[in-house]
Amino acid sequence: MSNQVPHYMIIGGGITGLSAAFYLKKRLEADGRGTPFRISVVEKSPSFGGKIHTVVRDGFVIEKGPDSFLARKRPIIDLAYDLGLEHELTGTNPKAKKTYIVRGRKLHRMPPGLVLGIPTQMTPFMKTGLISPLGKLRAAMDLILPKRDGTGDESLGHFLERRLGKEVLERIVEPLLAGIYAGDTYKLSLKSTFPQFRAMELKNRSLILGMMASRKNVTEESAHLPAAVRNSVFVTFKRGLQSLVNALIDALRTVDLRAGVGVVSVRRIEDGQTEVVFEDGQREVVHGVIVTTPTYQAAKLLSELPTASKLAKIDYISVANVIMSFDRKDIPFELDASGFLVPKHEGYTITACTLTSAKWLHAAPEGKVLLRCYIGRSGEQEWPAWSDEQLISKARQDIQDLLGITAEPGFAEVTRLMHSMPQYPVNHLEEIAEFRKALLTAMPRVLVTGAGFHGVGLPDCIRQGKEVANQLAEMVLA
Ligand code: FAD
Repeated sequence: MSNQVPHYMIIGGGITGLSAAFYLKKRLEADGRGTPFRISVVEKSPSFGGKIHTVVRDGFVIEKGPDSFLARKRPIIDLAYDLGLEHELTGTNPKAKKTYIVRGRKLHRMPPGLVLGIPTQMTPFMKTGLISPLGKLRAAMDLILPKRDGTGDESLGHFLERRLGKEVLERIVEPLLAGIYAGDTYKLSLKSTFPQFRAMELKNRSLILGMMASRKNVTEESAHLPAAVRNSVFVTFKRGLQSLVNALIDALRTVDLRAGVGVVSVRRIEDGQTEVVFEDGQREVVHGVIVTTPTYQAAKLLSELPTASKLAKIDYISVANVIMSFDRKDIPFELDASGFLVPKHEGYTITACTLTSAKWLHAAPEGKVLLRCYIGRSGEQEWPAWSDEQLISKARQDIQDLLGITAEPGFAEVTRLMHSMPQYPVNHLEEIAEFRKALLTAMPRVLVTGAGFHGVGLPDCIRQGKEVANQLAEMVLA
């Protein structure tokens, strides 16, 4: 093999894998030695992009997976600039900033000034009908409660209950954060999901004071954004997130991109070399591998390594969404909100609803409305047994009750994302560090990353793809 051109293989062609390929190529080309190399990206499904899936139809831009990202997170903005896509960035509609939350079968306006569910303006919080007077008093105790010392992890739910009380946790924060993880906050790791909360407690003692202080940096944080989107917390691309995937594929023209090819094993063979085994039984010996599949898949690929069982333990929740179009005349209210959240135990099937075409002005043609209902979260996993018709009917029932929409949708599309939301357990960081240490000893040029490791958001996936690409490049260029 020593006479062959070095060959690096990336397994999984979601955003993490494509970013890893992009930055690995960039880094190896920048080396200046002109050493030839070969990169392959191997993707099991027929197309690239993983969870990202935009459908453009009849003037609608429909996101079946992720729909946007946090503007303040640099890696995706940097990648957009690297790909010449910055002019495609677009922010949310400034006229649809309100969000609602269900309580007692009614929609209540989310008090202004909440950041990730944490109050940063006390007057609107104290006026909200969402929380009882006792619940508000308990939340305000965060201002005086001492901080917890120590470095150990704890669950996100335990932390938030400790700081703000159970009512704020259950009625506001959990439904909001559930949109990101679809998880049970009492099972999710604080250090792996919202380390900034813990850092605020350590620095400011109070979470509310810490959040207020961090808000002051917002202008600074958005300085890197194109002027057109500087005032938006969430940002996407005008023609959908698929344009990011398409631009990456375009930039990877000289890379060997293989879709519809599944990998079954990555193993160490004689002389410390790495062999990749494919579903059809073919084998290839390569000089380096980056695995970016969900962790339960990575655990199977690396099953010869005992420590891979740590990856198999990370639970993934299944979610679905129902996207429906309506005529504007069939919507009996003003479209001045981005959507609403449904806490657990309110008696509905849907967990949230985005008024997509109000939130994103590019998402629907004139006179039409696009709406997206979310189904499934930790503890609510019976939905996969339901047919598409049942899912649509339950979503329609909920929006009829809550929004008064009775019209037949122009179209209704169901997307099932099975085992798609990783649930970082308490002590996740420590478990991952141990796994990586053992992997480095057993297979030094095999790196594993992706949404199951250090962040599920698109910017975090891009960051992780870039980090492992640079790590592999450092090893092979040394
Ligand atoms: P994936 O996208 O899962 O890619 C992994 C790839 O590996 C897949 O394409 C898979 O087919 C492939 N693969 C698996 N096994 C094999 C094998 N054996 N051989 C070869 N290939 C294999 N994030 C945001 O920032 N904003 C949002 O609005 C947002 N919304 C979301 C909504 C939903 C419904 C979901 C599920 C997630 C959302 N996220 C959002 C999170 C974000 O979309 C994901 O974390 C991210 O896309 C994961 O990227 P990835 O490349 O790590 O994994």
